[in-house]
Amino acid sequence: MNYRKLFRVKPGSHVRLGKIDPSFTAEHKGKKSALAAVEKLDGELRALQYLLYAEGRRSLLICLQALDAAGKDGTINHVLGSMNPQGTRVHGFKVPSHEEAQHDFLWRIEQQAPKKSEIVIFNRSHYEDVLVTRVHNLVPKKTWEARYTMINDFEQRLVASGTHILKFFLHISPEEQLRRFKQRLDDPARHWKISDGDYTERGFWDDYTAAYEDALSQTSTEHAPWFVIPANNKWFRNLAVARIVVETLAALDMQFPAPSVDINEMRRKYHSAELAEEKKIGKKAWQKLIAATDKKNKGDQ
Ligand code: ATP
Ligand code: MG
Repeated sequence: MNYRKLFRVKPGSHVRLGKIDPSFTAEHKGKKSALAAVEKLDGELRALQYLLYAEGRRSLLICLQALDAAGKDGTINHVLGSMNPQGTRVHGFKVPSHEEAQHDFLWRIEQQAPKKSEIVIFNRSHYEDVLVTRVHNLVPKKTWEARYTMINDFEQRLVASGTHILKFFLHISPEEQLRRFKQRLDDPARHWKISDGDYTERGFWDDYTAAYEDALSQTSTEHAPWFVIPANNKWFRNLAVARIVVETLAALDMQFPAPSVDINEMRRKYHSAELAEEKKIGKKAWQKLIAATDKKNKGDQ
């Protein structure tokens, strides 16, 4: 099953979140049976990120959007957890600071865009400017409506300079959200996460749904697609996001850069003695072996 196809919002289509089951788990029956798949994905993710970093030609931007308690933090922890911290970065976007609010809404976003070889996750993103701003009437309708085109143009520009973009909406049900809030109340280690705002925002569930449906429909493009991830089950949410990232990176056909030195020359220059020792052959025999390898390499070229 190709998860990139399965969960992608088809460009030009109109998303109806009510028609997407947040408890869907595709071919996986449960957490245990998915464990092997998750482990394999983690290894693949790590190897692909290493390759992206080594290649140094492109980057990946992952935008995460969701309602409270849908699991943005857990997803970041899981997906980035398997990668080398060198070459990865997370940036969270909160209510704009005074300075940020003095600029165009994309000003603060652009500054955090990934540089070549980097994987960056946005924990919330420029999409807040067509979501929370719309739900709470922070800007007039014509302002947020005009932003869809601005966002598409902005993302297109990033893509043109070598950034690949994946956007994930973590889809949970209101019942699951309430269950998770309750769990936080019952767990002292999670009390710090609780805010009154989380509960009051629940009152705007339908408005958020409408805002998300429009945002996903208007801005899922070939170059920067949205994926709706069923997220009632944390294990499936992690698996699906990891798998889409792996499928995307694998399709890039990345290559290690050609070495800047002659590898055989380096062997001969600096490692002759120890390699001869390793092979239990004399220095002369070793030199013969190197010469034969050189000849073969030249023939292969
Ligand atoms: P968590 O609650 O899991 O720690 P969070 O992302 O919800 O993570 P909070 O500090 O609770 O972090 O919330 C950030 C708030 O900032 C959200 O309510 C979000 O809607 C708001 N926000 C982000 N960007 C904008 C924006 N451009 N305009 C207005 N509000 C914004
Ligand atoms: Mg919050």
